[in-house]
Amino acid sequence: MNLKSKKVLLVGLAKTGISTIKHLDKLGANIIVNDIKDKETLSEILKELEGLNNVEYILGYHPENVDDIDMAVVSPGVPLDLPFIIKLKESNIEIIGEVELAYRLSNNPTFIGITGTNGKTTTTSLVGEIFKKANADTYIVGNIGNPVIDTVGVANEKSVLVTELSSFQLESIDTFKPNVSVVLNFTEDHLNRHHTMENYIEAKARIFMNQNSEDFCILNYDDETVRELSEKVKAKKIFFSRKEQVQGGIYLDKDNNIVIDINDKIILINKDELSLPGNHNLENCMAAIGIAYVSDVDICVIKDVLKTFAAVEHRQEFVKTLNGVMFVNDSKATNPDSSIKAVQSYKNPVILIAGGMDKQSNFDELLEIAKENVKALVLLGETALKIKESSKEKGFKEIYMVKDMEEAVNTSYKIAQESDVVLLSPACASWDMYKSFEVRGNDFKDNVHNLK
Ligand code: ADP
Repeated sequence: MNLKSKKVLLVGLAKTGISTIKHLDKLGANIIVNDIKDKETLSEILKELEGLNNVEYILGYHPENVDDIDMAVVSPGVPLDLPFIIKLKESNIEIIGEVELAYRLSNNPTFIGITGTNGKTTTTSLVGEIFKKANADTYIVGNIGNPVIDTVGVANEKSVLVTELSSFQLESIDTFKPNVSVVLNFTEDHLNRHHTMENYIEAKARIFMNQNSEDFCILNYDDETVRELSEKVKAKKIFFSRKEQVQGGIYLDKDNNIVIDINDKIILINKDELSLPGNHNLENCMAAIGIAYVSDVDICVIKDVLKTFAAVEHRQEFVKTLNGVMFVNDSKATNPDSSIKAVQSYKNPVILIAGGMDKQSNFDELLEIAKENVKALVLLGETALKIKESSKEKGFKEIYMVKDMEEAVNTSYKIAQESDVVLLSPACASWDMYKSFEVRGNDFKDNVHNLK
C-alpha cells in the first residue's frame, strides 16, 4: 500500500488516532486531522504530535466537506453515519479504520480476531498468555487498548497478533481476514450507536466475512444468535458448548472434563481446575482452547495457562474482605448481561452497586435474576432512577440512591452482614461520572481500602 504524498483524513484523535498519524507520517502521507474536541481540550494529546510537518488540523467541529482526499481513516469512537462521512462515502472516498489499515500494512503475521458482547478482553488476555507461554512472538492488541498499527514494521510472518475487536472496529474493516476468528456471544449493547440489534449483530459478523476454508472460526454453540449466524461462515467451523456434546467441537463430558473432539478426542482438564470462576469464564476458556488447538499450541501449555491465569483487573476482581464482607470490583460490567453473569457467580447474599451512563439498555432481566440473591441495590449515576423504577416493579424493597462512589461503598458496608458480597457491577458505561471504567473501578477500590 503506497501512501506517499496521498492526502489522508484521520478522524478521531485518541490513542489509536495518534499511533495512526505517526505511521501515516512515516509513510509520507499528507494528513488532515479532524476531531470534534477543540484545541484546548486536546492540548495534552497534541503535544505528542509536535514536530510532525505534514499534518493539518480541523478541530472543534466536523467539517461539512473535505475536498480532494484520497482516503479517510476513522477511529472506532466516531460513528460512521455522521453527515460528512456519509458525504465522503457518496463521493466514493475509501473509509477504513485503524485495524484495516494495520492489516494492509502488516507483514503477514497470524491474525487471531476475537469478538462478542462480553468476554473479549478476558479471552484475548488468556489467548495472549497461552501464545506467550508457547514462545510465540505474541502481540495482544486491538480494543484491549494497544493499537494494532503499532505492530506494523515490528511483527513479521512468524508473529501472532491476538486482536480484540469491538463492533465499532469491525464496522470499518474491508479486507481484514483473521486466520482464526471467534464469536463469543451476543446480548443487547451499544444500541445508542448501532440503533438496532440487527445492525449490531451485522457489524460483529464482519469478523468472518473474508475468511475462507483455510481459516478457522470458533463459535459458541450455546448462544442462539451465534449458532444462527454460523450458517454464513465459510471458514472451518469449530463449536464449543458447555451444555451439549457438539460433534467436532469442544464440550464437557459427564464428569465435567473439557473434551477437545476435533481430530482425536482429547480430555484436556476438569472444569474445576480452571483458575477463572463462573460459567461465563468456562465459555471464554473453551474459546481460548479452540484457538490454541487449531493453531497447534502444545496441549500441556494450554493446560498450564488455564490452571494459573489470574482474573483481569476490573473483571470480578477480588478487592478485600473486611469483617467477613467480601468486596468485588466488576467495573468492566458495562451492560446488563455482564452484570447478570457477575451476580450469578455468588451463592452468598449480594449488595449490588449499579448504575452509570444511559445506553438505552433494559434492566428487567438483570433485576429478575438478581432477585435470587441480591438483597439490596445501591444505585448511582444517570440510570439510577431507571433501575430504581424497574426494581420496584420486581419487588425490591432495599434500594439506596447515592450521589457518588464514596457514599455507595459506605452505604453498602453499613447494611452488609458477615458473609455478604458487596459487588460493584454497574451494568452501564462509566462516562456519566468517570473518564473510563478503570477510573471507576479504582475509585471503588480506593473507597473500599479507606473503610475502617
Ligand atoms: P469485554 O472485553 O467483551 O467487555 P471482559 O472480558 O472485559 O469483556 O468482561 C466484561 C464483563 O463481562 C465483566 O464484568 C466479566 O465478568 C463479564 N464477562 C466475561 N466473560 C463473559 C461471558 N463469556 N459472558 C458474559 N459475561 C462475561
